[in-house]
Amino acid sequence: MENSAETNVPADTILNEDETRLLATAKQVCDTLIEPRAEAVDNGDTDARDNLIALADAGLVGVTTSREWGGKGCSGAFQREFTEALTAACGTTWFIVTQHLGSCGTIAGSKNQTLRERYLRDMAAGRHYVGVGFGHLRRKEPMILATQVLGGYRLTGTAPWVTGYPYLSGIIFGASLDTDTDRHVYLYAPAGESDALRSTPPLPLCAMNATATTEVTLHDLFVPEEDFVKWSSREEMARGDFYGIAGATAPPLGCATGALRTLRGVAQKRGDGLPMLPEAVTAFETEIANCRNNARRIADGPKDTPVYQKDALDARAWAIELAVRVSHAAIAAAGGAGNSRLHPAQRRFREAMFYTLTAQTGDILSATVRRLTR
Ligand SMILES: Cc1cc2nc3c(=O)[nH]c(=O)nc-3n(C[C@H](O)[C@H](O)[C@H](O)COP(=O)(O)OP(=O)(O)OC[C@H]3O[C@@H](n4cnc5c(N)ncnc54)[C@H](O)[C@@H]3O)c2cc1C
Repeated sequence: MENSAETNVPADTILNEDETRLLATAKQVCDTLIEPRAEAVDNGDTDARDNLIALADAGLVGVTTSREWGGKGCSGAFQREFTEALTAACGTTWFIVTQHLGSCGTIAGSKNQTLRERYLRDMAAGRHYVGVGFGHLRRKEPMILATQVLGGYRLTGTAPWVTGYPYLSGIIFGASLDTDTDRHVYLYAPAGESDALRSTPPLPLCAMNATATTEVTLHDLFVPEEDFVKWSSREEMARGDFYGIAGATAPPLGCATGALRTLRGVAQKRGDGLPMLPEAVTAFETEIANCRNNARRIADGPKDTPVYQKDALDARAWAIELAVRVSHAAIAAAGGAGNSRLHPAQRRFREAMFYTLTAQTGDILSATVRRLTR
């Protein structure tokens, strides 16, 4: 999603007992299953599906769905911790599952009860994966146009990014209304290929290549009224992005935490000959904690102050740049081996680069470049 971090769930600072247990389970699944095979998944040697099944078996695909619909109904604080645990283990798995977690939240919040009845229980159980195609609504030019017709809508255009396409049973598309392109309509469509819906093969990507992200083109696709998800607008999306600037720091912070793990491992292996490495580990530990506390303070704080936007953009750019620095340090520490497609340092470096782009707005783009040129 566009990821669940974008749902601006007010964050409770304390996890309840169930959430504490669930997070321990999540970390155990990450440590024992997901992280050990992260390079194999990243290289396409192992299918990410096995990780999705492991998360579903642990009840972790239902964290953004309420108990009423078979989910865990977890808090914003849990989502942050879970996001960091998963991005510290395997960016590919996180990026596929988080599109779905966002969709669960969107369908749970839709006025359309029939959508929930048809899909939400299976979505929470990981039996019906739903991806999204609406990040393009941030672009100046409309990418998909919706025309209201008798009984529903007709969609024409291209979603430039749809992650996890081969795993999806459905997709929530975001489209601009043809009569007023600042009005946005979100519609659910089955993910099957047809004359009206065509996907490219997975796009060749530097990072997240194993997420099977494709470009999906719609040719006059008819979507019946019963698959309506919600109305929104460019203004409402901008407001959501404004409130979520600092909240979306969990992915790069998780990546930085994973890279620190790699750096610590290399430092221990390299021994005393390179005293700079343990010092770097300590310095990055402190900086990651400071960056996280700063971002959470701003994400949980008031948004109507004169300094909020600048502070939030600085917090986001700091987290993005920090993940790149820690993973770069892990590569430097690993030496030649760090460039092997089997070494975690290079994978984390590419994933860190990718978190520069997720849910990127013009303001985040500018703040990131400003930080990098300071
Ligand atoms: C590998 C990958 C997978 C993705 N998967 C998904 C997915 O499954 N679903 C989904 O919905 N999205 C997905 N995205 C989209 C992602 O979340 C961002 O929306 C996207 O990275 C932003 O880049 P863009 O190409 O869409 O926009 P760009 O055109 O590159 O613009 C980036 C931002 O800058 C702004 N901007 C551009 N030009 C200007 C200008 N001249 N002045 C001011 N502002 C400007 C744009 O409005 C936009 O907000 C994915 C992206 C990538 C890279």
